[in-house]
Amino acid sequence: MKDQIVEKVKNAGVVGAGGAGFPTHVKINAEVDTVLVNGASCEPLLMSDPYIMEHELDIMIEGLNAVLDATGAKRGVICIKGKHAKALEVIKAAVAKDTTGRLEAFELRDFYPAGDEQVLVREVTGRTVPEAGIPLQVGVVVSNTESLYNIANAMKDIPLTERYVTVTGEVGQDMVVKVPVGTIVADLLEFAGGTKLSDYRVVDGGPMMGRVLPDTDQPVTKTTSGLIVLDPEHNVVKGKIKDPSAIKRITGSICCQCTHCTDLCPRNLLGHSIAPHKLMRSLSALVADPEARKTALLCCECGACEKFACPMGISPREVNAMIRQELMKEGIRWNGTGEEPVNHPMRDVRYIPTKRLMQRLDVLKYDTHPGMPEETFVPERVAIPLAQHIGAPAQCQVNVGDTVKKGDLIGEIPEGALGARIHASIDGVVTSVEGGVVKISRQA
Ligand code: SF4
Ligand code: SF4
Repeated sequence: MKDQIVEKVKNAGVVGAGGAGFPTHVKINAEVDTVLVNGASCEPLLMSDPYIMEHELDIMIEGLNAVLDATGAKRGVICIKGKHAKALEVIKAAVAKDTTGRLEAFELRDFYPAGDEQVLVREVTGRTVPEAGIPLQVGVVVSNTESLYNIANAMKDIPLTERYVTVTGEVGQDMVVKVPVGTIVADLLEFAGGTKLSDYRVVDGGPMMGRVLPDTDQPVTKTTSGLIVLDPEHNVVKGKIKDPSAIKRITGSICCQCTHCTDLCPRNLLGHSIAPHKLMRSLSALVADPEARKTALLCCECGACEKFACPMGISPREVNAMIRQELMKEGIRWNGTGEEPVNHPMRDVRYIPTKRLMQRLDVLKYDTHPGMPEETFVPERVAIPLAQHIGAPAQCQVNVGDTVKKGDLIGEIPEGALGARIHASIDGVVTSVEGGVVKISRQA
């Protein structure tokens, strides 16, 4: 049964919807005792997870059961924050009706980053993933809510062609909306009533870990969870467009070594060796510390140090990312012990409440819990990248002028490579295959 499920998920091109797009068929090809459904909706403002839990729970549970069957797990734990009361109620009712005895509900506290895979594993199972490790090492697979929804479709041979996206910020109507993969951001913003500002920036993802898009001609991909329209001077935007070399220079000179960043670092609290204040100290020419520098490889880039902890407005996260790139180029890896780390004794009280984080980010006014629009979004064109996942880009299977139907294969995994298939997301004609992007226009 495992091989059949894994094959169907592979054929459908499912990738992790909540992260960097790791191919799901590889992730579920494992033996574990527990599967966690990550419905934490970790980033402020992003509402598609609670929306799916509330409105599409039966389908999501079909996907969860498929993953339980594939991995042999005996526990499938659906995790969601208590503040999403309606979704939690629906989940508890579904668990009560479950006849397999495998399903459970878990109410998460409302803190950041509750949805970080390793934090979630610790919260629900009490196990701690080793440094630089993955949940599999402690017998757990963590799957995002939307990934499970997509797995359920895969079991019916329906490929991944759509994505739930939260559109919020300075837009006419904020919403959670299902859109074809490859939707152009400008088209979606227009559907959402346009922007309220003439000059604005769009953050792809959440305010903590998202990135500022260069323009609105960019496509929605399989990993686009949200689009947030903000003033270019907004706290969230400005923090993301600082010049990296300036960040490094400023950091080296103004860090006061207060250790607040380390005190609130979720990975440090799990007992991992990362201590961002030591990394900041190692930037000084006086205190070169090669071992501290290597711990940049243990950062999950959650941004808690940068957006919440640091009183000096410094970004240990950015510095970590820069150092990590340098280390990767040098071929340096973290050789962890593989043993379960010992959690910090204060871990259970050092939480960042999401509401306070939103106040600090100045995004509380956008926390409106939007629903689906009444009208369906039907774009006239899409631009589908062949690389939307971790691994090798898909190999293009179509040419300009080809007619395609929604669900047709347009990108195949290269032989023997890690990757994901790509499918047409609308009916239409291929108008361009350039720069690793397939453009399709809807036929009249
Ligand atoms: S971004 Fe900062 S708080 Fe988050 S894991 Fe990295 S060092 Fe720790
Ligand atoms: S919180 Fe800021 S100032 Fe304090 S040690 Fe960390 S980077 Fe330095």
